[in-house]
Formats: sequence, C-alpha cells, structure tokens
Amino acid sequence: MNALYEDFKGARLAAVEERLGLTLAQGVEKHGNPLFFFRADDIGVPGRNFARMMELFLQYRLPLCLAVVPTWLTRQRWEALVPFANRGGGLFCWHQHGWRHVNHEVKGKKQEFGPARPVSDIRNDLAKGRQRLEAILSHRFAPFFTPPWNRCTLETMAALVSLGFEGISRSAGNAPEPPAGLREISVHVDLHTRKEPSPGLGWQALFDELSQGMESGVCGIMLHHMRMNDAAFLFLEFLLRQIAAQKGIEAATFTTLAHRI
Ligand SMILES: [Zn+2]
Repeated sequence: MNALYEDFKGARLAAVEERLGLTLAQGVEKHGNPLFFFRADDIGVPGRNFARMMELFLQYRLPLCLAVVPTWLTRQRWEALVPFANRGGGLFCWHQHGWRHVNHEVKGKKQEFGPARPVSDIRNDLAKGRQRLEAILSHRFAPFFTPPWNRCTLETMAALVSLGFEGISRSAGNAPEPPAGLREISVHVDLHTRKEPSPGLGWQALFDELSQGMESGVCGIMLHHMRMNDAAFLFLEFLLRQIAAQKGIEAATFTTLAHRI
C-alpha cells in the first residue's frame, strides 16, 4: 500500500476533499469540458474489494474500463462477475490486460510485452488472450489493450493492429508512439500504486496529475482494487461523487472515447 492513505482522517481528509473540488472546477474553467475515464487493472478474480469497487461505480452510474487478465478469468469466475456486468451494461468496458501478467525482462523496467521476448511469442499471447476473453465474455469484450506496467514495444502495438484491436492504454508520455490505426487512451492519475514516501508529497503529485490530465482533454484515472483499503475507498467515493456532480465534466469508456478523440 502506498503512503497516500496513511493518516487519512480529520484535517487531512477535509483538506483533500476540498482541494479535489477546487482542482476539478479549475480544470473545467481553464480547459473547457474535460473528458474522464477510469481504468481498473488486474481484473479476473472475484472478491470483496472487486465487489466494493463495482458497487461504487454502479451507485454513481459512472463508466469503468476493466483490464482483464485472460489466464485469471475462468468461466466459473465470470459467473461471479457477470451480475455486475449485467447491472452496469454499457457503463463497463471489459478489455484485455497481460496474458499471464508476468515480467519477462531480465533487466530494466518490468514488462510482459517488452524487448526480451520474440515477437512471435508476444503475438501468440495477444491472440490467445483475445480468443479466451471473447469465448468467455462474448459480446461484452471490447477490443482494447492495457499492457501490464503500462508499457510495451512497438512490435506489440503493430501486432495489436493486425489482430484488430482499436486502442491501447498506457501511462501518459510513454514511448514509443502507437502505429497508425491504434488509438492511445492514456492514464494520468495513479490512485493505488504510488511511490512517494509521504502522504503530503503523494497528494501533491496526485493533484498535479489530475490537472495535467484535464489539460490534455482526456484525463485517465488508474485503479488497483486489490491494493485498496478503507481510506482508499473513501477517497474513490469523494472522487466519483464530485465527478458525477461537477458540471462540464463527462466520464466515458474506451469504446466511446475511441470515436471522440
Ligand atoms: Zn496489471
């Protein structure tokens, strides 16, 4: 768990909630009507935190893009997830995450689809993943890809185009640029895997990311439900409530965004 939510009560909690409202209102004033999306990674296993996250999005009727790890999802697990899919309908965008969510790099940053692997292996994982998700999710599968750790090679993205994927979601500013035919829908704000050593530094960086995301026109917010504690759920609820209430802000799924950006 990151330091962000340590001591999240009393004056700090009130200050964070107030600053959130101000940051969103300022973003609308300065940058017109920013679009937002939420992306939850590492999906496939039902559980308490998963259910709690989904209930919040359903309560506020806000869209959520869910990055599903193909080998984690079984038909039996989908039976436990499908009631949420049915209640959310078009609110939820079920798309593809890493085949096994493992790191294959020996040095440097972690990647499942990085330079250490033959392109044929990468393509094979992407194709198998899509096949498996389409078989289980059926019409609910949306042809978008979130690479684990938000990074992958250009060859991976070329393979995505040839397999019929419409878009990719990485961290804002990550290289290389996607090839023609693949839309980039970047995340800016990291709610649960931050590295700052103290809550004060963490909140400062988070609000900076929120402002930068709104400045770009489409602000992406990344969630990791398995890492969430009560304080993290409390902040997510502040965020959803304010985004739902803030005039001039609209939240969308990848499917909608791909046709608007
Ligand atoms: Zn992941």
